[in-house]
Amino acid sequence: MSRPEIEVRGLHKSFGDNEVLRGIDLEVGRGEVVCVIGPSGSGKSTLLRCVNLLEEPSGGQVFVGGAELTDPDVDIDAVRRRIGMVFQQFNLFPHLSVTENLTLPQRRVLRRGKAEAAKVAAENLERVGLSDKATAYPASLSGGQQQRVAIARALAMGPEVMLFDEPTSALDPELVGDVLAVMRMLAREGMTMMVVTHEMTFAREVADRVVFMDGGVIVEDGAPAQVIGAPAHERTRHFLSRLL
Ligand code: ADP
Ligand code: MG
Repeated sequence: MSRPEIEVRGLHKSFGDNEVLRGIDLEVGRGEVVCVIGPSGSGKSTLLRCVNLLEEPSGGQVFVGGAELTDPDVDIDAVRRRIGMVFQQFNLFPHLSVTENLTLPQRRVLRRGKAEAAKVAAENLERVGLSDKATAYPASLSGGQQQRVAIARALAMGPEVMLFDEPTSALDPELVGDVLAVMRMLAREGMTMMVVTHEMTFAREVADRVVFMDGGVIVEDGAPAQVIGAPAHERTRHFLSRLL
């Protein structure tokens, strides 16, 4: 079997005395979609942020595409270019148009020329269904449209892996579906994805695996039908019962 695209081994993370991740082992295969669920404060965001080194792990190892991010000699910028991240708050540049939001990182980070960056921007806006918003500014868009722009911006960098941290949690309910539809498309296309979400329908239908975290550890890791449909642990059952 080929090496997993994301590999987390014995990951620990503390903020001062607060041990937030207490030994996480996780693998995500190429093209696999793993949804991470769990109560607020259980360490889900910290785990995602350690996978692209937005947070520095206190211990353990993280590999993406076979490269060890936790190796002090690694070219972290090179590895990070393989990883796209989408946040709950879309983090678009408010003073830039939609197209400029997509071209700026390509030009700065990937050193793409103007024409190529514009072409890639247009392709990715089309993928998320927002070609008609190319010249708009973020403030004139709905939350759902802004989040789709944020996804297109990440995709324009050509990532091998996409990390989503509660991408629909800040959206009005009627706007959630459009964002989830884009994520379903990516999953179908074979993107490797880690998705922190409370959308259990999405997790059931799209995830290959669901990971339940509580108190900085993985309590359960398995197929959605198992973890959501027939959880083995009381903590998982308790969490799921409160979502209904
Ligand atoms: P979740 O995403 O599951 O809600 P987080 O990973 O955001 O959980 O947070 C887990 C714990 O880590 C919380 O107790 C939070 O206060 C703490 N924490 C997260 N980020 C930081 C930080 N930058 N500095 C200090 N504490 C943090
Ligand atoms: Mg979080």
